[in-house]
Amino acid sequence: MDKPLKEAFDYIWEETQAGIKPSIGMIVEAPFGRTSVVGIVIGVSAHSNIEPSKLKSVKALAPLPCLDKKILELGQFASHYYVYGLGETMIPAIPKWWRSPKNWQKGLRASPAKRTNTQTALQSHDQAIRPEQLNSAQADALSQLCAHNRKEFQTIFLNGVTGSGKTAVYLNYLQQILSNDHDAQVLVLLPEINLTPQLERRIASHMPNQEMAVLHSGLSEKQRAISWHAIISRKAKVILGTRLSILTPIPNLAAIVVDEEHDSSFKQQEGLGYSARDLAIWRAKNENIPVLLSSATPSLETWHAIERGRYQEIKLSERIHQAQMPEVELVQIQEADKNQAISATLRQALLKNYQQGRQALILVNRRGFAPVLTCGSCAWLSECPDCSGYMVMHKQLGSRKSSALCCHHCGLIKPIPLSCPKCGDSDLHPLGRGTQKIEEQLEGIVPHAKVLRVDADTARTGKLSEALFTKIHQGEADMIVGTQMLSKGHDYQNVGLVCVLDADARLYSNDYRAPEALFAQLIQVAGRAGRSGGEHTKMLIETRYPNDPIYQYLRNYDVAGYMKHLLKERQESGLPPYVCHALVHAESRYMSDSLELLAEAKTLIQKNSNANNGLICFDPVPKVLARVGGKERAQLLIEADSRAQLQVQLNCLDDFLRKQSNGRISKKGKVRWSIERDPLLI
Ligand SMILES: [Zn+2]
Ligand SMILES: [Zn+2]
Repeated sequence: MDKPLKEAFDYIWEETQAGIKPSIGMIVEAPFGRTSVVGIVIGVSAHSNIEPSKLKSVKALAPLPCLDKKILELGQFASHYYVYGLGETMIPAIPKWWRSPKNWQKGLRASPAKRTNTQTALQSHDQAIRPEQLNSAQADALSQLCAHNRKEFQTIFLNGVTGSGKTAVYLNYLQQILSNDHDAQVLVLLPEINLTPQLERRIASHMPNQEMAVLHSGLSEKQRAISWHAIISRKAKVILGTRLSILTPIPNLAAIVVDEEHDSSFKQQEGLGYSARDLAIWRAKNENIPVLLSSATPSLETWHAIERGRYQEIKLSERIHQAQMPEVELVQIQEADKNQAISATLRQALLKNYQQGRQALILVNRRGFAPVLTCGSCAWLSECPDCSGYMVMHKQLGSRKSSALCCHHCGLIKPIPLSCPKCGDSDLHPLGRGTQKIEEQLEGIVPHAKVLRVDADTARTGKLSEALFTKIHQGEADMIVGTQMLSKGHDYQNVGLVCVLDADARLYSNDYRAPEALFAQLIQVAGRAGRSGGEHTKMLIETRYPNDPIYQYLRNYDVAGYMKHLLKERQESGLPPYVCHALVHAESRYMSDSLELLAEAKTLIQKNSNANNGLICFDPVPKVLARVGGKERAQLLIEADSRAQLQVQLNCLDDFLRKQSNGRISKKGKVRWSIERDPLLI
């Protein structure tokens, strides 16, 4: 059951009530305390260690097929590896609608899975590309893929420069699998909801006869329940979804594709902190099927595995229509531009590009109007009262028309103060620049240009984002300003110029993965230019550090070179993938309580480990963002040479912490704790 508990519970099965024998994988409703919960049957026995009079009976059986053995094995692995309860690992992966026993009686009234707006919105670039239409590089990649024994585990990395047509290759590959085996099901994982509508249309156009099921958090609960049911009952053959879909039971799974495998969205940040990519590889191995990772900029973990020969690499190094990548030009930030949101060089380039009738993309790393509001006389800054971060100024926020301050960490929204809360002066002004400010400035630079903004505010729902991108693809925008959202996978048709504002902010941050992520982002956004081929295109990057290796490799689009450079750096500084990490997180009202619990955890680990097991436990420290939503947060970093060693220690630690807690909240000090493996941020 979905509780932060390690143990399972015994119940009596009344055969007369259900009319069926119990079996492993059944989804049932069972009494628990004063209420009842939904659980999964994980064992059947004629005996119990509990006195029969104390045992309660299972209340109801869900009208669903049993979860198969393989999905239970995956759940058990994930629960073990991520040190999380089996129930709290598996139950949340079942759609909410099915987790409510009152729906079991009603059942799903057979509303057939809608082919969402596929017919109406089919655009030229959604058309299927048949094998005979592939260019020679694509055809070659496809035949390499198809040469594999389909019923065998293999991790294949499809390494394709942006715009090389990776999607067409893997769709043809999946289509072959499905046409050779009529029972087969295939899973395609995408990092973001925003990418699903387009791929959905492409799949529908490519494989019109195969039933498709889409799974992501943007669907209604009912729609998710319908999709999930179609998958588990083997009707849906193509499953398209975001990270949670990796925990979906797919009885006849024959292949998995992880598209944009480097994307950090595949890692869940809270609760079961799993990596959908890593679980996909484990699942493929356990089910003895191929898994295909696809990207133009692999994660360092993937690159490392390729270098060691663990993954097979298939290259696609030619862009379709011979489209050229834009020429990279570094723009050093000048003193004269300090008070300008957009530098003179960029302004001229934007104007020229507009006059040539081409679109421009402007990448900004922060949404909102300005990162912070400040007072001109006492230097007050708009700090969040509940966090150790600043509240960001927004010109409008969601459906609100007026300006507001918003904390991106805890979500607190406050009106803009009329005067400084500290000294009372009314000289308040925004500092720095976000997407809204740039949008406003652009309108001033090119007065008649149509400017569109793409960020978490304008694309906050699937519908909004779909409408926004349809506008963009139909050429209804001259300039598109946005956060990294605009760099992902969308097919722009006429981009002549890409501008990146203040790229350094991400380069010199406390996150050791930031350069890797920035490089991937720059390559992705560069790939949006010149898709239709032919003309010369440019990418202008504002930086204070033009000599940083990242820009030198980027200029030549030397992905392999930069990966090697980064791997060497990681090896020298003893960072993943050369070591493995785990974090123990703690948060409570007082920092001292959080730190104290972690100090006890450290003492335990030191007691258990000896000099030979390659384990280092650092000191507990407050997090960089120490206060969020009024909670004081700290962390303990554990580093190990081997995953197995780390696992042993984490299991001990979990037992130790559980003994002094209710669930995951310590009895003393009420510290909420959790263990995270392979954290992205340390
Ligand atoms: Zn002031
Ligand atoms: Zn806050």
